[in-house]
Amino acid sequence: MKQRTDLLIVGAGPYGLATAAYAQMRGVDHVLLGEPMEFWWRHMPDDMLLRSGPEWHIDPLDIHTFESYIATSHGSRYSVNPIPVGLFRDYGDWFRRAYHLDAKPGWCESRQSGQDSLSRHGDWRIRGPAQAQS
Ligand SMILES: Cc1cc2nc3c(=O)[nH]c(=O)nc-3n(C[C@H](O)[C@H](O)[C@H](O)COP(=O)(O)OP(=O)(O)OC[C@H]3O[C@@H](n4cnc5c(N)ncnc54)[C@H](O)[C@@H]3O)c2cc1C
Repeated sequence: MKQRTDLLIVGAGPYGLATAAYAQMRGVDHVLLGEPMEFWWRHMPDDMLLRSGPEWHIDPLDIHTFESYIATSHGSRYSVNPIPVGLFRDYGDWFRRAYHLDAKPGWCESRQSGQDSLSRHGDWRIRGPAQAQS
């Protein structure tokens, strides 16, 4: 199966989710690839506390901020600082659902011969659950 896109967002971490939300708002055709917040789930200890405070968030539109997530899920009088990593993972999930972002599972590989990284017009394919893009 082939699919073309104007914008391939590799990785659904905080920046990937933020980029997808912005692209969606601007009406830019895009594909968001990767397991949401995968690095945060797999490579950070469950008992970790964040260095950044509750005013930090991932929304370039300043709508679905961490503080709005807390107010929605815990009530406006709830405050948390430092932030447990689990709460920030949940925020990432809430953010993705709030913007209805569709992340395709899989791992992106460039097929551009002689190049290590994706180029502007490079072919790409997905290895993993969502098979065979080129
Ligand atoms: C121990 C630790 C503590 C931290 N504490 C804080 C903190 O308190 N506050 C803070 O703001 N930041 C903190 N950070 C930094 C934070 O992790 C990064 O700023 C943030 O994760 C960057 O987001 P990102 O989306 O660019 O990258 P990532 O979160 O790393 O997401 C990138 C994603 O892309 C995926 N990916 C990569 N290559 C491919 C490919 N070829 N195909 C498909 N998917 C791919 C990866 O699997 C990953 O899930 C901390 C980092 C560490 C390591």
